[in-house]
Amino acid sequence: MTIAAKIQKISDSLPSGVRLIAVSKTRTKEDILQAYTAGQRIFAENRAQEMADKFPVLPSDIEWHFIGHLQTNKVKFIAPFVSLIHSVDSLKLLKEIDREAAKNNRTIPCLLQFHIAEEESKSGLTTTEAVDLLASADFGRMKNIQIDGVMGMATFTGDKEQVRKEFRQLKAIFVSLREKFFRVNDAFRELSMGMSDDYPIAIEEGSTMVRIGTHIFGSRK
Ligand SMILES: *Cc1c(COP(=O)(O)O)cnc(C)c1O
Repeated sequence: MTIAAKIQKISDSLPSGVRLIAVSKTRTKEDILQAYTAGQRIFAENRAQEMADKFPVLPSDIEWHFIGHLQTNKVKFIAPFVSLIHSVDSLKLLKEIDREAAKNNRTIPCLLQFHIAEEESKSGLTTTEAVDLLASADFGRMKNIQIDGVMGMATFTGDKEQVRKEFRQLKAIFVSLREKFFRVNDAFRELSMGMSDDYPIAIEEGSTMVRIGTHIFGSRK
């Protein structure tokens, strides 16, 4: 199947209210354009420099999302144009995003990334860390970021019940933070969960954004 046909097929299968984020890390401009031609407008990258290189050579109505671990010294490369940063995992990073957003005269939408998997290698906040961050005076002073919701990655395992349990856990974190901190903020509504191998389960558990690379573009080298 072509890239365009895969975009069509996946898009058609998503319930309304779930957006497809095409994960284009390591993919060429040509691959991305094939997906674009099929109507895809949201692409995600996990390296700041790679995203900054792709941005000027691809159509300007693409929404670029950032999904990887972001070092504070790389924020400046993406701050002028990034549409959503899925991977905020510290107050320090959020402060830097706020600072760079202010320099660019804009507000940058962000998600808080949570550690829900069993693997230690996956990054993200614990619930306690997130509560401390959201309750901090530093956070209260930030004017150029907006928290749109949460993101998480499930354990890489064939055990579907394990994966489902982790997505449920993320949804529960989302609901409790919404109650505690975002009762009057309509922007807090995104639950970014689900990748090529587990997105149908993520959708059953309430995902609003699925991040899919391999199922669209084939396996990465
Ligand atoms: C690479 C990546 C994806 C996409 O993974 P696939 O298995 O290729 O669909 C999704 N989310 C994050 C955070 C990633 O790094």
